[in-house]
Amino acid sequence: MKAAPFDHHAPETVAEAAALLAEFGDEAKVLAGGQSLLPLLSLRLTRFEHLVDVHRVVELHGITRTDDALRIGAATLQAEAEHDAVVAGAVPLLARALPHIGHFQIRNRGTVGGSLAHADPASELPTVALTLGATFEAASVRGTREIAADDFFTGTWSTALAEDEILVGTRFPVWAGRTGYGFAEVARRHGDFALAGVAAAVALDADDRITRVAVGMLGVGATPVRVGAAEAALVGTVPDGAALAEAARAGMAALDPADDLHATAAYRRRVGAHLMETALGAAIEEARRG
Ligand SMILES: Cc1cc2nc3c(=O)[nH]c(=O)nc-3n(C[C@H](O)[C@H](O)[C@H](O)COP(=O)(O)OP(=O)(O)OC[C@H]3O[C@@H](n4cnc5c(N)ncnc54)[C@H](O)[C@@H]3O)c2cc1C
Repeated sequence: MKAAPFDHHAPETVAEAAALLAEFGDEAKVLAGGQSLLPLLSLRLTRFEHLVDVHRVVELHGITRTDDALRIGAATLQAEAEHDAVVAGAVPLLARALPHIGHFQIRNRGTVGGSLAHADPASELPTVALTLGATFEAASVRGTREIAADDFFTGTWSTALAEDEILVGTRFPVWAGRTGYGFAEVARRHGDFALAGVAAAVALDADDRITRVAVGMLGVGATPVRVGAAEAALVGTVPDGAALAEAARAGMAALDPADDLHATAAYRRRVGAHLMETALGAAIEEARRG
């Protein structure tokens, strides 16, 4: 099938893009890399009269680092972020997660902001953003605002962005000290969306005690989720293998994954606990070496 006819707009500034969204209201949609939107349009699962293509908006491109944050412009390609040394140095969890997104052809077209705004609960980048407590920058004709990751993902394919808002960029916190990161997921085939996945970050003190830990999961709810029960079980401890297994068990017990066409809830629980142990183990090991 082919998409229903639409007008293609190619603004060159955020202000122009915001004005188009304000003018056309619910008949308009932002088009970034098109890797999620175009299949939906082509299958006629959705339809918009106006597509506001943000590819030429220079303000939306680029990666910048400050002392405590890494900022990625919304239209920055996933492949650019994946191969960027600044990203790998500042927020290693992003560098670990990015190669798991689809295939390289997808990452060559798909954008970081597009993945975050699309908010698929089985997506890697939303999970990393939630795990690390990223901040989202939004713009519209009404002005700009910031949205905390905890408030951003509101449901499957749904975010706190208003219809007339553009995601301009995302700031990921840079963790300092002896830190380590782990990312693990399971998919039926390479390139498929994951059935479940885990992102983990830890910081250790000089005695290898966990001073800070963040664990997030994809594929186990309507949004990416923070696994507070696993975090609470680990903070302040010097965990061994048994403690990691217990934290993962407690983490999964607090979640409520669903059955769907791809996997049962019971499978997601079992594999989720294993992935959590794997990701946390890798993160702790890396931090101990640091
Ligand atoms: C075969 C295949 C496999 C894939 N596998 C994975 C996978 O394993 N993991 C994964 O995470 N993703 C996967 N994807 C999706 C891919 O990551 C997409 O690139 C991403 O979800 C959307 O990014 P995009 O730039 O292509 O956005 P688009 O498809 O252009 O847009 C997606 C949505 O985000 C909105 N949007 C985009 N940019 C903005 C903005 N700046 N402000 C406001 N709204 C905006 C659009 O309006 C639209 O609703 C896969 C896609 C395909 C086709």
